[in-house]
Amino acid sequence: MDGMMMHRPLRVADILTFAEEIHGQAEIVSSTVEGGLHRESYFEMAARCRRLAKALLRLGIGLGDRVATLAWNGYRHMELYYGVPGIGAICHTINPRLSAEQMAYIVNHAGDRVMFLDLTFVPMVEKLAAEFPNDLTYVILTDRVQMPATTLDALCYEDLLAAEDDAFDWPDVPEDTACGLCYTSGTTGNPKGALYSHRSMVLHALLVGVSMQNSMTPGRRVLPVVPLFHANAWGMAHAAPLVGAHLVMPGPHLDGASLFDLMEAERVFAAWGVPTVWLGLMAEIEQRGRPPEGFGEIVVGGSAAAPALIRAFEYLGVNVCHAWGMTEMSPIGTLGNLAPEMQALPFDERMRLKSCQGRRAFGIDMKIVDENGTRQPHDGAATGELFVRGNTVVSGYYDNAEASAAALDADGWFGTGDVAAISPEGFLTITDRAKDLIKSGGEWISSIDVENMAMAHPHVANCAVIAVPHPKWDERPVLIAVPAVDQPDTDAVMAHLAEHLATWQLPDDVVYVEELPLTATGKVSKLTLRRQYADHELPEVG
Ligand code: AMP
Repeated sequence: MDGMMMHRPLRVADILTFAEEIHGQAEIVSSTVEGGLHRESYFEMAARCRRLAKALLRLGIGLGDRVATLAWNGYRHMELYYGVPGIGAICHTINPRLSAEQMAYIVNHAGDRVMFLDLTFVPMVEKLAAEFPNDLTYVILTDRVQMPATTLDALCYEDLLAAEDDAFDWPDVPEDTACGLCYTSGTTGNPKGALYSHRSMVLHALLVGVSMQNSMTPGRRVLPVVPLFHANAWGMAHAAPLVGAHLVMPGPHLDGASLFDLMEAERVFAAWGVPTVWLGLMAEIEQRGRPPEGFGEIVVGGSAAAPALIRAFEYLGVNVCHAWGMTEMSPIGTLGNLAPEMQALPFDERMRLKSCQGRRAFGIDMKIVDENGTRQPHDGAATGELFVRGNTVVSGYYDNAEASAAALDADGWFGTGDVAAISPEGFLTITDRAKDLIKSGGEWISSIDVENMAMAHPHVANCAVIAVPHPKWDERPVLIAVPAVDQPDTDAVMAHLAEHLATWQLPDDVVYVEELPLTATGKVSKLTLRRQYADHELPEVG
């Protein structure tokens, strides 16, 4: 027997109209590309989104059209997040750090009709325009005064909005309608598009809002260092208006000093971002001898947060929430919140739990399987490839039959490509990306394990452990480290590692570099390192 309840479609625009009415005075503070801070309430934003919707319709954009954005975190990008899907079009966020080749591929593959871009990206797009579709309309996200001289035949965003009024009713779109498109910056092969729906996006916003009781509450001031251009800024763009949290947007200013200043000036409580960003902020905190005033929480994910980094923030009284997810999961999969009884555990025990990649969010199911596809127990010891399913997980990739066919197993679970263990209490530990594991003499070495140990040594500021081909053992680990001191003591680093690792797990060599190569999403690019060091000559190891 079916229940007898109404079935209203879940729409992204409903988050906006809710925020306008219920949290109308909460604000978005944006550090702008043009310079200075801009303030806009959710009430004002909603009116501007309606103007934008009318402007889009006037440009001929409608249901299912792809609208590209190339922009930093700021209020105009947020307006696109709502105005575009509001009329049934698809907000296609592009990562500006992608290579020219990848960017040309995805703009053409997506079939974008309009591209909205920040001033910063005008020179880059001018160079790439010949590779983009001929009929692509460009809109520069600025006002008339700041419009640059450009070879692009570009419109001005504020002009478009000024030409419209804000009387507009959001149309009813079926909840399975696509609302957003984000390409994974796949390290090999062409990028693949995750195509979100209104339903998945609203459910994801609820999931983040419910799970993040610390960050996502009315009146909280939260800062997404995670970009709107990648994986929905981990859901902040939707969860914050939904719960009435203020958003403080850093624009292009993501270095430690700029973040510190903005966080302090705006009394930011929580900031979300990848480990590299927090290493930068921590260096700034150490230099100034204190954290920004009012700073209470970081959410860290995107790649493994080293226990040493987690401890450093916790010592300052900053709660660390270690999260795991993927573009294909909208992206949140797990969050590192501790239950009340766990909060009462001794410090070291809490840090051990926090170093895990959190526990699943409601609505995400997980399983780990061995090479034969056999499910492994969630006993904290058995490892296997992690598979997930849920309403916020992709069912395939946009216009890519081959990748779609390979994405799910026979039972409809999505293969993450991560290797993990899950404890009986649900704590996830990511051992590695399957392709980053090091296979030495038939045994697996977790690069993350070795990195975590190395990061705990005071002479190591940042590091990556990669496999280097070896004639006898197949592969051997090499530690590529950014030193924290002028004269790093390699013997001391190795002795420290030897305290925690078996001899065969120890790196065969340590190479010092000034900086590590990053991917377009700010993670250490192990693919680049593996290529760089493919012919690295290993010293004879006893
Ligand atoms: P992306 O789709 O670019 O967000 O990348 C998703 C991948 O990042 C995952 O499959 C993991 O390999 C990795 N990742 C994300 N969060 C974490 C984390 N907390 N610890 C380890 N790896 C992570």
